[in-house]
Amino acid sequence: RAKEAGRNGFQFFTQEMQNRLDARVTLEQGLLRALQRDEFVLHYQPQIDLASGRVIGLEALLRWQSPELGLVPPMQFIPVAEESNLITAIGSWVLDKACATLRKWIDAGVPVVPVAVNVAASQFSHQSLEPMLQEMLEKYDLEPSLLEFELTESLSMDDPEASIALMHRLKAVGIAMAIDDFGTGYSNLSYLKRFPVDKLKIDQSFTRGLVNDAEDRSIVTAVIRLAHSLGLRTIAEGVETEGQLRLLAAQGCDEIQGYYFSRPLPEVGMVAMLKSGVVMDLGVLR
Ligand code: C2E
Ligand code: MG
Ligand code: MG
Ligand code: MG
Repeated sequence: RAKEAGRNGFQFFTQEMQNRLDARVTLEQGLLRALQRDEFVLHYQPQIDLASGRVIGLEALLRWQSPELGLVPPMQFIPVAEESNLITAIGSWVLDKACATLRKWIDAGVPVVPVAVNVAASQFSHQSLEPMLQEMLEKYDLEPSLLEFELTESLSMDDPEASIALMHRLKAVGIAMAIDDFGTGYSNLSYLKRFPVDKLKIDQSFTRGLVNDAEDRSIVTAVIRLAHSLGLRTIAEGVETEGQLRLLAAQGCDEIQGYYFSRPLPEVGMVAMLKSGVVMDLGVLR
């Protein structure tokens, strides 16, 4: 019986593997076509300064507007893009689009704020990132201070010295850098000390637990203290409720991002928001 089960298990396993491989190949082909047919779009989510209530930055978030599948969220295709070499091309598209959009907004008189772009680990270690960045800044005639890179903790671990060197060169160009999803990666604090980053993004899993989970609250408190003692700003991701906002403000968190203030918006919605000069009501914190 055991032998039989084993054989069935094995057959199931290979079929399962084949299916997954097929799905992956289909997705890879879809992503390649998406690039060729220009089916990607960026949505933008505001980042709010808790001292002023103002929108002080935006995060550019990628979506795939597929004719067959509809609007596909990044978690459904970024991992596959990362495993194939597609992430480099997709990453270039994202940076180009973010820069082109900033230039378009500036020319149209929209009051712009810096735009943060997510940079995948494999993209970060790729030779092309630095020249590509220089090319975009020149092509769209943008101040580097209008761009921020969001990096994850894992990016630096293959070759930490090379990552640190690249970060310093990006910093010298004038790009701001944030560590995304802070606390969920390797959290090697000795490297954190050497990363020339400007901001820690507190992962939304900690934000989610803030009100009901004492341990999440302790972690958030500690991360904010750590960041401040290293001279870094903090932004909490995934802020959805007033309760979370209050606790974050009480702990001295500098900025928030989340549905509480706004979901990521398509370009037109973001332009309207920037033009409106909307300020978050800080009265709830009193
Ligand atoms: P992330 O960089 O940590 O982005 C934050 C994610 O949280 C976004 O999901 C955003 O829509 C979502 N979010 C924001 N506020 C809230 C909230 O209040 N509640 C909840 N539940 N979620 C909130 P999204 O847009 O689906 O992106 C998921 C991830 O995909 C991103 O996580 C990032 O790691 C990756 N990603 C997105 N765009 C790009 C890109 O252009 N390049 C790369 N390499 N990765 C990207
Ligand atoms: Mg991010
Ligand atoms: Mg994040
Ligand atoms: Mg995340």
